[in-house]
Amino acid sequence: MWRDDDDRIMDILDIIETENKEIVPAVCPICGEREGHLYFHRFKEGHEAGGMWMWCSACHHSTHARGKVPEWWINLGEISFEKLAALPDYLEKNKNRIDQWVNKLDKIKTYKILKDEEMLQLRASYIEIGKLVQEYGYGEYSDILKILMGQVNCIDSNENEGEKLQYLIDSYTRRIQGKGGLIDFVRYNKNSEVYNTLNEKLGGELEKVWGILKGYL
Ligand SMILES: [Zn+2]
Repeated sequence: MWRDDDDRIMDILDIIETENKEIVPAVCPICGEREGHLYFHRFKEGHEAGGMWMWCSACHHSTHARGKVPEWWINLGEISFEKLAALPDYLEKNKNRIDQWVNKLDKIKTYKILKDEEMLQLRASYIEIGKLVQEYGYGEYSDILKILMGQVNCIDSNENEGEKLQYLIDSYTRRIQGKGGLIDFVRYNKNSEVYNTLNEKLGGELEKVWGILKGYL
């Protein structure tokens, strides 16, 4: 069913370098149908060695090679290494999920993934901020607490690093940093003594959070 006699299928790789909103399915370099797919698989987490596959669901040209996987690549959880073979039958069955995943990774590939110690610092800062907000106990603090706990739960979860990073960034930009987030919460305190104490500690923790996340915003 699959043909691996035309190297032009490798041109699917070029889409990674383009600015398309959704890179896959890509236009097949051989038959011209928008049915081109690609998948990488890192053999071991944190290692650069892996496999790559490119195939077209329309003309059934395909190729598979071993080599260096792009730095931004994260294996798709549902794809089991045992089922991978040189021919892409298994990948073809999962192509919709794979395309979705490749498009998502492509969107965040310019980010470096957070280091473990940055994750731990972020977790510690969000817990400290939560304590401060709870201690203060005014305004929308229960909403903010829920959001902060969401960050901690995310960091503790088994989601892969890419999913975590995207959640942390989304929450920070939409809920924490924005209007109705911690900045508003602090600004409207009336008791100047509490305000100053709270802001000093809170400001310090927010600075740490900012220091970690600013590279992704
Ligand atoms: Zn084709």
